[in-house]
Amino acid sequence: MSDAGRAAALEAIAGEISACTRCRLHTGRTRAVPGEGNPDTEVVFVGEGPGYNEDQQGRPFVGRAGDFLVRMLATIGWRREDVFITNIVKCRPPDNRDPEPDEIAACEPYLRRQLEALDPALVVTLGRHSMARFMPGARISQIHGTRRGVDPGTGARAALAYAMFHPAAALRSPEVERQSLDDVAGIPAALLESRALRAAPPAPAPAPDTVPPTAVPAMPGGPADPNDPTDQMALF
Ligand code: URA
Repeated sequence: MSDAGRAAALEAIAGEISACTRCRLHTGRTRAVPGEGNPDTEVVFVGEGPGYNEDQQGRPFVGRAGDFLVRMLATIGWRREDVFITNIVKCRPPDNRDPEPDEIAACEPYLRRQLEALDPALVVTLGRHSMARFMPGARISQIHGTRRGVDPGTGARAALAYAMFHPAAALRSPEVERQSLDDVAGIPAALLESRALRAAPPAPAPAPDTVPPTAVPAMPGGPADPNDPTDQMALF
C-alpha cells in the first residue's frame, strides 16, 4: 500500500470508529479513541482502552500513563509521533474497568484493519489484554521484555510482538517501573530482528519426504517453542 493509501485507510477506519455502536461502550463515551501516529511507522504500540483523559480528548495515552510511555520512548531516542499508538478497545470502559470479552471481540475488526494498513514489523503490547491478543496463553510476568512471531490473522502479516507491562502498572510500582525501563531498551533489537526476518527470502518448501516428523523451524535469537504455533519462522 502507498503512503497516501495507508493514511487514507487509517482515516477511514478512524471515521468508522468514531460513529461505532457495536458494543455497549459507545453509550458512555465522550469521544472514541481510534489511535494516532505515523502512518509509515514500523512499530505499533497497543494498550488496553482509553481512560478519562483519552475519552475527553479522543487521543490515546495522554494521561499520566501516557507521560510515562513518552518518557520510556525518550530513553531509546523515539518520540510518540514516530510510532502508531492504539488500544484493544477504542471507547472508555466505565470506571476504567477491564474491557469485557464481548467488547474486545466487537472492536477486534478495527485493530485488525489498522494493522493490515500499517503492516508493522513490531507490535509492542502494553499490558495483559493486549498481550493476550498477540501472545495467547502467555503470562506477562514471564514474557515481558521478550518477543514472539505474530499470527497474521491479527492483521499484522509479518511482525514480531514484544511484551511490556502496562505503563499504568509502572506508576503503581517502582519495581515494575524499573523493569519497564529495562524492557523498553530491548525494543530496537526486536525491531532489527523483525526487519531481518521480513527481508529474508521465503524458504523453499522442502520435498515432503525430506521433512523429519519432529522438525520445528528455529526462530533466530532464541529457541522456538514447539508448543507455540506462533513462534515459528514459517510465519514470515
Ligand atoms: N491506558 C490505555 O490502555 N490506553 C490509553 O489510551 C490510556 C491509558
